[in-house]
Amino acid sequence: MPPPNKSLDRSARHCADETYLTQQQTTLCVRINSMKCPVCKSTELIAGELDENLTSLNCPDCRGNWIRGAEYWKWVEQHGSELAERVHETESLSLVEPGLPIDCPECRFRMVKYLVGRGLSFTLDHCQGCKGIWLDRNEWEALKKRNLHDDLNTMFTSFWQNEAHREARKKRMEDIYISRFGADDYAEIKRIRWWLDTKTNREELIAYLTDRDPFAA
Ligand SMILES: [Zn+2]
Ligand SMILES: [Zn+2]
Repeated sequence: MPPPNKSLDRSARHCADETYLTQQQTTLCVRINSMKCPVCKSTELIAGELDENLTSLNCPDCRGNWIRGAEYWKWVEQHGSELAERVHETESLSLVEPGLPIDCPECRFRMVKYLVGRGLSFTLDHCQGCKGIWLDRNEWEALKKRNLHDDLNTMFTSFWQNEAHREARKKRMEDIYISRFGADDYAEIKRIRWWLDTKTNREELIAYLTDRDPFAA
């Protein structure tokens, strides 16, 4: 059995902490050791703990985090019953959304962007090859605040994505209406629209509203 490789630097210290390393583990550690940030390109990722029992590799420059697919599955299983989503948590974390396509730091596949949705406007990068996940700075924290951090695998399904895209389209349309009408008038017209929807004589009310002279004979 080979002894632990003391020359491994701190980016692989979790590997060196093992009492011994098999050849396969040593190869893996060396591979992790040389893994570069997919956003910053030249910065080496450093091993750390993103959450209790969840190891990740993080970038000291952009503060992004790489979670290996198997690590995430293991954590979800240990994490136990799924936490209920917290809806009304306000977002105060500073998020960066570079939005640029990135390649998997592990297997070099072009990663796929997935919308988070549920009122959170950022995307997650997921590698369909090795199932690894890239999170930009503070994204894990933002997901955790809403208890969505244990839902990443569901987030990568088409069901979740269709819903998130529908939500994003609605948000884009709302932004257009706000820029056209102004925020106050948009809020008012929305209120009137909601009120009209509660009426059985909706058409009649709209006719009255749009008639230039509703008192003409
Ligand atoms: Zn980086
Ligand atoms: Zn990959």
